[in-house]
Amino acid sequence: MPKHYDVVVVGAGIFGSCTAYHCQRLGLRTLLLEQFNIGHANGSSHGKSRITRYAHTDPEYVPLVGDSYNQIAELEEKRKEKLWKSVEKTSFHYYTFDFSKLGLLWAATGNQVHTISGHLKKHHIEHEVITGSQISERYPQFKFDEKWTGLIDPMGGVIYANKWLKAFQEEFRNLGGTIRENEPLISHTEDTTSPLAIKTKNESYTTKKLIFTVGCWITKFFPNVNFKIKPISLAVCYWRAKEECDSHLLDENNFPLLIAKNHDKKEFYFALPDTDYPGAIKLVLDDGDELMGDLSHPRRNNKSFIELPGNFISNHIPVVDSAKPFKVDQCKYTNSPDHHYLIGPVSSKNPDILVGGCGSGSGFKTAPGIGRALAEMAAGKPTTVEVSFFSPSRFGESV
Ligand SMILES: Cc1cc2nc3c(=O)[nH]c(=O)nc-3n(C[C@H](O)[C@H](O)[C@H](O)COP(=O)(O)OP(=O)(O)OC[C@H]3O[C@@H](n4cnc5c(N)ncnc54)[C@H](O)[C@@H]3O)c2cc1C
Repeated sequence: MPKHYDVVVVGAGIFGSCTAYHCQRLGLRTLLLEQFNIGHANGSSHGKSRITRYAHTDPEYVPLVGDSYNQIAELEEKRKEKLWKSVEKTSFHYYTFDFSKLGLLWAATGNQVHTISGHLKKHHIEHEVITGSQISERYPQFKFDEKWTGLIDPMGGVIYANKWLKAFQEEFRNLGGTIRENEPLISHTEDTTSPLAIKTKNESYTTKKLIFTVGCWITKFFPNVNFKIKPISLAVCYWRAKEECDSHLLDENNFPLLIAKNHDKKEFYFALPDTDYPGAIKLVLDDGDELMGDLSHPRRNNKSFIELPGNFISNHIPVVDSAKPFKVDQCKYTNSPDHHYLIGPVSSKNPDILVGGCGSGSGFKTAPGIGRALAEMAAGKPTTVEVSFFSPSRFGESV
């Protein structure tokens, strides 16, 4: 007889790890399958750092981020472990911040900053809007002119990404959940019979609910559904200071999280302090090369994905050496056609098959909230955070 679970979650990146944890927490007997070893670097969730922030281009993300902040605070307390680098608070009142300290700076040409400020006001999230020249007064590392406007989100901070992944997986195991690594899912039944039958490389299982959190591999499982996804490979570049004496300006206590959107040039960048490699900021262009047919990275990323960030640095972060990155890593980036997440049943034909994906660029910080929502759907409960905006059904029926 095949082993039976209430839920099988496929893929142990940050989406799957958070989802499995929440399923088990809701009392569902859960199996988490991973095709590679736990902690591998072939997907999107590896590395030491990611950005968290309330500031977002669409208001639907703000409550998901809020749920994640709450969950992380709970886990930090439980595990006695620091899971993100938050801005220093100036008073005991939680929402009183010192705006002169760090947080996230969102710099943009055009009107975008004012739109984001509108969303944050709607959700009563503290923030500040400043002019381009005030950016340089506030942060000595940067140089922006009056074409730019800045928004400071004091809740912006560095996620300790590898620690989040480990924390959710360990807590899942502590609750009695099962993780099977190096065990790829090979096939599953798509008809409406319950339980669903699935086959992995090693075993057969049955399950009431099947949740796909497979990152870029979503294209392998649902080639016929209406949303067309083209995952890409990002060149993740790390850059050092020009002068050794300026290195401290790049560390977590001095370098704010940065999102920079030059809408005139259609170039978007994000930057983090030296959490991954001491002395080197991470600064990446939000664009990349197509993955190979087997979804592996190209051997080397196109030169322009390294040259463009170099040009941005030479124009806007003069303390950093823009001539050549100190190191280049790779990361897989998966977006849906409208660049919003997929959360929910993948097709109305079978409500027992759910998907959580297309988080690229912003999904790490919201993964705890997304995981909770998917688990609640699997348990047949209303979701804590409203996620219907992210329903895969917005792309219409499967073809
Ligand atoms: C360069 C870069 C920077 C980013 N910066 C930020 C940021 O600053 N802030 C932020 O919030 N987000 C950021 N993101 C986005 C975030 O990292 C991703 O949204 C998130 O990691 C996606 O996780 P995932 O679990 O969906 O995918 P993955 O991490 O790729 O996990 C999918 C897993 O499924 C497994 N799998 C696939 N097929 C099978 C199968 N058949 N059987 C079993 N297992 C399978 C894979 O091996 C993999 O482990 C960034 C992403 C990149 C690439």
